[in-house]
Amino acid sequence: MHMNTNLPKLSGFLPKHEERVYSDVGRCIYCGSTEALSDEHIIPYSLGGNFVLPKSSCAECAKVTSSFEQTCMRTMYGPLRLLYNLPTRRRKKRPEKLPLKVKFSADQPDWELVDVKQEDYPFLVTFPYFDAPGILAGRPLGESDGPTTKRLWIRGGCPFASFDELLPALARKLNAHSLFPESKADIPSFSRLLAKIALSFAVAEIGTQPFADDLTSIILGKDLNHCRYYIGSASQDEPPRNMLHELAILKFSSSVVVVKIRLLCKLGTPTYFVAVSNN
Ligand SMILES: [Zn+2]
Repeated sequence: MHMNTNLPKLSGFLPKHEERVYSDVGRCIYCGSTEALSDEHIIPYSLGGNFVLPKSSCAECAKVTSSFEQTCMRTMYGPLRLLYNLPTRRRKKRPEKLPLKVKFSADQPDWELVDVKQEDYPFLVTFPYFDAPGILAGRPLGESDGPTTKRLWIRGGCPFASFDELLPALARKLNAHSLFPESKADIPSFSRLLAKIALSFAVAEIGTQPFADDLTSIILGKDLNHCRYYIGSASQDEPPRNMLHELAILKFSSSVVVVKIRLLCKLGTPTYFVAVSNN
């Protein structure tokens, strides 16, 4: 496991995301429909995002975007959201116990799932690293830029102890020989989330100029073959910043608009760049 630091603790540790409501768009930023428009949270509400782009997503597209958002939240950030007490619309449904893989002896062949109380649970939080976006690195638009990665950013944390103290203490408490905290990453869903954040933020800040169709294909899940042409990460981590999320428009050239995205930057997470325009 390439975990190298503990997440600091905790509730109230993460700053609040600034609240911002942009002007109404009046059409779906993904498909152009003007029917049944709803407000879009640029960064998911469930990650504490408070930037709202009113009347910008049709019911059909909202279904698609909320589906990959929920996948990211469930697989990659569910534990983190519990840990830092990030918002949920269904607070009552928060589980009190979570399953952990445990072995009770050295010669036990298979891991066994044991329910562990939320406050004792060894959480892992995961972000993928990518290369720089192909469009910025000068790579040609090819068919081999799908949503994959070879490297992950993984951190562990728990509410009441450092991760290194938690694991042995928890093993003793459970009478276990070994514990297997798991890190999950859904790279296609996360790539689509980055594309969605970038496009909606670009529309909010710049307006509805024609952005890359490829990007909406990524967001709507029609074609993920060019993900890494448009989406990438910085080669070096930036220092943690005392804010929840960082979003910025970086002009790359007159024809390419690049959005910088850093989610949960107080945790020292990777920086992403998404090119939203290629005309
Ligand atoms: Zn739509």
